[in-house]
Amino acid sequence: MKFSSSCFLRIFLFALLFFPCFGFSFSAFNLKGEEPELLSLFRKAYPDIQFKSEYNAFAGDWKILLSLEDRTAEFFWADGMFLPESEIENKNLYNSFLYKYDFALHDPADFTEEDIEKIRQFSSTENRTSVKGTPPFFYDFVYDCKTRVSLEQHIKKIPFLGKRSNAHERLREPLAKVEKEILESSKSDAEVKNFLDTLLSADSYSWRNISDSGNRSFHSLGVALDLLPRGWKQKNVYWAWRRDIDGDNWMRLPLERRWMPPQKVIEIFENNGFLWGGKWVIWDNMHFEYRPEVILFSRLRNKKNQ
Ligand SMILES: [Zn+2]
Repeated sequence: MKFSSSCFLRIFLFALLFFPCFGFSFSAFNLKGEEPELLSLFRKAYPDIQFKSEYNAFAGDWKILLSLEDRTAEFFWADGMFLPESEIENKNLYNSFLYKYDFALHDPADFTEEDIEKIRQFSSTENRTSVKGTPPFFYDFVYDCKTRVSLEQHIKKIPFLGKRSNAHERLREPLAKVEKEILESSKSDAEVKNFLDTLLSADSYSWRNISDSGNRSFHSLGVALDLLPRGWKQKNVYWAWRRDIDGDNWMRLPLERRWMPPQKVIEIFENNGFLWGGKWVIWDNMHFEYRPEVILFSRLRNKKNQ
C-alpha cells in the first residue's frame, strides 16, 4: 500500500489530536541534541561515580542518573545544578556551583569604587541570608550526607602534614597526593619548609553553617580544610573577622596584611582539585575546599578565553 504525503499529514494530525505527547516528544526528538557538554567534567572529577543521562521531553531537560557503590540518585541537569524535581521551580534562587574560580589573586589596590560597592552588597547579611547558595543535592549524594548520621559513617581520622584532622574518607586520596607533593617541594623550597615548620592546625570536619547564612559549609561535609600557622593573629586570615574590626573596609585590606600560604602550596592544592579561599572576593585565607569540578570548569573557561 502506498501513502501519499497528505495521507502522512493526516496520520500525523490524528496522532497529535489523540496523543498530544506524540507531538511533544516529536519536537523534543529534534531539539534534544547531545547530552550537556559539561557533564563530562563531572565524569572526570568523580571517576568512580556513574553518570547516565536521558532526555526528559516533559521537563525539557536532561535527567541525570547517578550511581555510586550501593547508592543511586536522580536529578535534573538544571544548567549544571543537579536539582531534584521538587526544586526545579526554585532554580533561580540558587547560585550555580559551576562558577569561574579566579586563579589570579584579587588585589584590592585595583578595585574601583563600583567594585567596592558590589562587594559590600554581595557580602551583606541581607544578601547572604536571602539566597539559597550552592545547591546541596549533588554533594549530599556524593558524600552521603543527607543526614548527619549517614555522613559521620564516612568521617575518618585523616592526619595531614602531621596534624590531627577528621575528614571525609573520599578525601583520603587527594589529600595524600597534596601532602606528598608539599613534602617533596619542602626539600628545595625554603618558603614551603617554613610553612611546614610553623603549621599549627589542619581542621576539616565540623557540622556547621556558613556564617551569616543558613547554608551548610563544606566543612560540614568534611571536604574543606582550614590550615593555620602559629602566630596567625599577627595577620588577617578571614574577611568576616576583619569586618568586625574595620566595618565596611575589610575588602580594602592590602594583600601583604593577610596571611598567605606559599604560592607553591596553593598551586599543589589547585592541581589536585582544591580551591583556595584566599582567591575569593570574600576572602578566607586558611580555607581549602575539594571542588574538582570547579577547577576543571575554570581551566576550561580560561582556555576558551585565550
Ligand atoms: Zn574553612
